[in-house]
Amino acid sequence: MLGLMQSQPLLISSLITFAERHHGDGEIVSRRVEGDIHRYTYRELAQRSRQLANALEALGVPQGERVASIAWNGYRHMEMYFGVSGSGRVLHTINPRLHPEQVAWIVNHAEDQVLCFDMTFLPLVQAVHAKCPTVKKWVALCDADKLPADSGIPGLTSYEEWIGAASSTYAWPQIDENSASSMCYTSGTTGNPKGVLYSHRSTTLHAYAAALPDVMNLSARDAVLPVVPMFHVNAWGIPYSAALTGCKVVFPGPALDGKSVYELVEAEGVTFAAGVPTVWQMLLTHVRANGLKFSTLKRTVIGGSACPPAMITAFQEEFGVNVLHAWGMTETSPLGTLCTLKNKHLQLPRAQQELLQQKQGRAICGVDLKIVGGDGKELPWDGKTYGDLLVRGPWILDSYFKGDSPLIKDENGVGWFPTGDVATIDADGFMQITDRSKDVIKSGGEWISSIDIENIAMAHPAVTMAACIGMPHPKWDERPIVAVSLKPGASVTREELLKFYEGKTAKWQIPDDVVFVEAIPLGATGKMLKTKLREQLQGYKLPGL
Ligand code: ADP
Repeated sequence: MLGLMQSQPLLISSLITFAERHHGDGEIVSRRVEGDIHRYTYRELAQRSRQLANALEALGVPQGERVASIAWNGYRHMEMYFGVSGSGRVLHTINPRLHPEQVAWIVNHAEDQVLCFDMTFLPLVQAVHAKCPTVKKWVALCDADKLPADSGIPGLTSYEEWIGAASSTYAWPQIDENSASSMCYTSGTTGNPKGVLYSHRSTTLHAYAAALPDVMNLSARDAVLPVVPMFHVNAWGIPYSAALTGCKVVFPGPALDGKSVYELVEAEGVTFAAGVPTVWQMLLTHVRANGLKFSTLKRTVIGGSACPPAMITAFQEEFGVNVLHAWGMTETSPLGTLCTLKNKHLQLPRAQQELLQQKQGRAICGVDLKIVGGDGKELPWDGKTYGDLLVRGPWILDSYFKGDSPLIKDENGVGWFPTGDVATIDADGFMQITDRSKDVIKSGGEWISSIDIENIAMAHPAVTMAACIGMPHPKWDERPIVAVSLKPGASVTREELLKFYEGKTAKWQIPDDVVFVEAIPLGATGKMLKTKLREQLQGYKLPGL
C-alpha cells in the first residue's frame, strides 16, 4: 500500500523557489573579479536564474545537456547553480587550476554545449577553445562593457547581455528527481579525471543533511563564507544548503589571501566559513601577524585533507572559533563524515575533546561506513584496527560518467564505494583517516601514517607545511622522510626537527631525514601533491645509503 502524501520530486528548483518566497530579502554578497563588492538578495538571484533558464531555452540547449562554468565563488556562478540545473540542464563546474590540456579533455568528455567563464580565465579559454568543438556558445561572466574587443573567441558574449535580454518569467520543469543536475571531475591526483554526475535527488538530500546541527548547523541566523570553491564538488553543497536555510551568503571571489578573507569575515559579520587547511593556514598567519581577532566567526568546517591538530588548537584556543573536521570526496557529494562531539563527550577535559576532533568524524545519517581487510571482511570498530574505507548512501557515486561502476558487492549483494582511504573507526563511530592507501608508508611490514608524521612537524612553530613520503630502502622496503617549508623568517635545523619527534611517536616511525623546500607543491584543489614532490626529489638518497 502506498502512502497518501503529496508526491513532489526532490528538485534543485524547489530550493531556490523556497528561498525566494520565504527569504526573499536574504543577502548575497560577492567580491567580484573587478574587486568591488556586489550585493543583492535571494529574490534577485531567483529572478536572474530564471532569466538564465530562458536564455538557455532560446539557445536551444536540450535538457540533460551540459553547460560548463569556469568561475570563482560569486553570485553569477550561483545563478548558474540554479538556472542551469533547475531548468533540467547539467551544470559542469570546471576546476581552472587543472592543466589546460586536462580542461580541454574534460570539456570534450562532458560534451559541454555552453561554457561561461570569469574574465580571470580568459587566457585559459583562449588556450583551449579551438580544441573544444562541442561548445557552441562562449559566455564571459561580466558586463557588456568589460568584454574585450578582440578576444579571438568566436561569438563571445557577455553574460549580462545574454541573460539581460531574457524574461524572468519561467516555470521550472517538474522533471524526474533522479535526473542529472551537475557534474564535477575528480582532480586527477589519483589518475585521469573521472566524471561524477550528481542528481537532483542526491543534491537535495545532501543539502538537507549538510544543514543538520551535527553537520554544518546552518540556519537563517548564519552568514556563510564558502572559501571552498564552487568549481570543485559544488562548494561542499553550501549554495544549495544556503537556499534551503535562507542564510546570508558571502562569496570571496578570487581574493583568497588571508588579508582579503579576514576583511570580508569582519565586514560582513560572517559566522561560519568552510575551506581546506591550506587556505586557513594563510588566514591564521595573517591574523596572528597583525594581532587581530574574529568578532563574529563562530565555527569553521575544515576538510579536503587532514586538518593539522595545531590548526584546531589555534582556532579554538587563540581565537574562540570552533573547528568542525570533515571528510569527503568528489564521489561523495562531498560530505561523508563530520566531527562533532556527542553528549557524553561534553564533560571530557578539553585536551581529550581535541583528540576526538582530530578524527574525521561520524557518518552523516544517509551515509554508511565500514572498514575492510584485504579479504573484504569487515574489521572491528575499536579505533585501532585500520582497513580500507568503504561507503554507501543516496549521495554516493554509483558509476562514473561514461565509465564503470567501482562498487564492491558485499555478501548480501549490496554495493559499497571503495574510497581509496585507509581508516580506523572507534566504538562511537568516529572515523579517522590514517592515509590515502597510496601514501601509506610501508616500513618493515608495518604501516606508518604519513598524516601523523606531517601533523607532528606542523606543530613545530617554525613549520608552515609538511609532507611525508616513503623512500625506497633495501632493508625496510620504505622509510619516511618529511619535506617541510618554513614560516618567513623562522628557522629550525634538521636535527632540531628530528628531536622534536621524540616522545611524540614510536621511535621507528620518526622520519629518517628532513628535506627543506621553498614550498610544498599543491594540486588543483589546494591539496599537497605528493607525486610532484616525489618528482622534485628524484635522485634523493636516504642518509647512510
Ligand atoms: P581528488 O583530489 O582525487 O579529486 P577529492 O578532492 O575528491 O579527490 O578528495 C578526496 C580525498 O581527500 C579523500 O579520499 C581523502 O583522501 C582526502 N580527504 C578529504 N578530507 C579529508 C580529511 N578531513 N582528512 C584527510 N583526508 C581527507
